[in-house]
Amino acid sequence: MEAPVVVVGAGPAGLAAARALAGSGRPSLVLEATGEVGGISRTVTRNGYRFDLGGHRFFTKFDEVQRLWEEVLGPDLLVRPRMSRILYRGRFFDYPLRASNALANLGPIEAARCIASWAVARATTSDREAATFEDWVTARFGRRLFGIFFKTYSEKVWGVPCTEIAASWAAQRIRNLSLGRAAWNAIFGSRGDVTSLIERFHYPRLGPGMMYERMAQQVETAGGSVRLCAPVEAVRRDGMRATAVLAGGREVPVRHLISSMPLTDLVRSLDPPAPDAVRAAADALVFRSMMTVNLIVDRAALFPDNWIYVHSPELKVARIQNFGNWSPEMVPVEGTSAIALEYMTSPHEALWAGTDEDAFALGRREAVATGLLRDASVTDGMVVRIPHAYPVYRIGYERHLDVIADWLRGFSNLQPVGRGGMFKYNNADHSILTGLLAIENLDGAAHDLWAVNTDSEYQEVRKNG
Ligand SMILES: Cc1cc2nc3c(=O)[nH]c(=O)nc-3n(C[C@H](O)[C@H](O)[C@H](O)COP(=O)(O)OP(=O)(O)OC[C@H]3O[C@@H](n4cnc5c(N)ncnc54)[C@H](O)[C@@H]3O)c2cc1C
Repeated sequence: MEAPVVVVGAGPAGLAAARALAGSGRPSLVLEATGEVGGISRTVTRNGYRFDLGGHRFFTKFDEVQRLWEEVLGPDLLVRPRMSRILYRGRFFDYPLRASNALANLGPIEAARCIASWAVARATTSDREAATFEDWVTARFGRRLFGIFFKTYSEKVWGVPCTEIAASWAAQRIRNLSLGRAAWNAIFGSRGDVTSLIERFHYPRLGPGMMYERMAQQVETAGGSVRLCAPVEAVRRDGMRATAVLAGGREVPVRHLISSMPLTDLVRSLDPPAPDAVRAAADALVFRSMMTVNLIVDRAALFPDNWIYVHSPELKVARIQNFGNWSPEMVPVEGTSAIALEYMTSPHEALWAGTDEDAFALGRREAVATGLLRDASVTDGMVVRIPHAYPVYRIGYERHLDVIADWLRGFSNLQPVGRGGMFKYNNADHSILTGLLAIENLDGAAHDLWAVNTDSEYQEVRKNG
């Protein structure tokens, strides 16, 4: 029998690839390390309460991804209203920022200082020179707005000063998130940037996990196989051709390999090993992990937001989610709530190294400290650990990534896809797109998956592909 196409990882990217293959009558074998599908887009449950690992909006400009989501879920893909705010020094700022609310919160003196600091930045710095995240933001928005709306949150997320984060992250994400545009709009008035004003989004009735559970079922119904608890430990190669993988102690021959496992793990798993320079480049790339403290609370309608960004420096939590506002079916019992606190961390930090009990106590304490729980009590909950949540765009990371990508391009039958799989800060739609394009490549297209990221780069891929 011919060796199968093997897909490593049953997250959005891997399942999109496997589903595309299944749709054209070519079953594949998906090997997933954990006992669940969905990757970091999965939904976890506790006594019927449902929690994302960070709230996951379904929003895309790519027709093929939107079509896929609608085909998979049909009427179970809801359209939901969005509300989010920023908590900073005890005050809630509407997000996207609105001029009246922001000015009232900042007060006229602070607002005037922000404008003055912006004017100084515009007069004295050039947009083009910025190498760091801090320089990039400060040059465009001034030091005071940087301090209020960028610094504390970014440093919670990345765990390093903003002077160590590459400007390319700002260029990619702030434009998309439009936090900067929102800050600008608040002070100077909106120019109608639609990306900052997405007030509704798609969301599965039972959370994002529902999407990926359905996709896995569809793959299996079409004759493919999704094998859980099958971590790929080694990728055998013959020169620049993948020949087999070792997964859960079993050797599986490979015709073509699509890998969404963290790129660094892929490089380290190669046998014979990758060249020294490629392994050194992988060692230089770092992921940031995340922990969620999920709380079940004995009161409904705690706050109207889907999520709240916590910029307050005195709290460690970065974001707080309220899942009943994402979909009412995330909360099975009337009069209660499912909320989650997101902590970005790293394996060497005390939070990750500590116990779940300590993390749970921290989450409960900080939830109370925000004032959001009011007089409600936490009745139950759980802690979830998420390794490899964020590829860290530390200064110089592109150089290391290029070394790895250039070498992997030489393989005749191995395609890395997805977020961790390509060390790219991809949302689920970009991750899915890489999976879909990988299958088109199997059919003779010549997409450069490494170019899938921002919209303009994607357009280039379509033209060339
Ligand atoms: C806090 C947070 C919020 C987010 N919010 C949004 C949002 O609102 N909208 C959005 O579109 N995107 C969002 N994202 C991004 C989204 O989660 C990712 O883009 C998407 O899950 C990436 O899909 P993937 O398949 O590439 O990787 P993953 O989801 O990471 O899946 C990879 C899979 O590979 C498995 N694996 C790893 N190693 C091995 C191995 N050795 N062998 C076998 N299997 C292995 C993993 O267990 C995992 O299941 C968010 C991410 C985070 C962290």
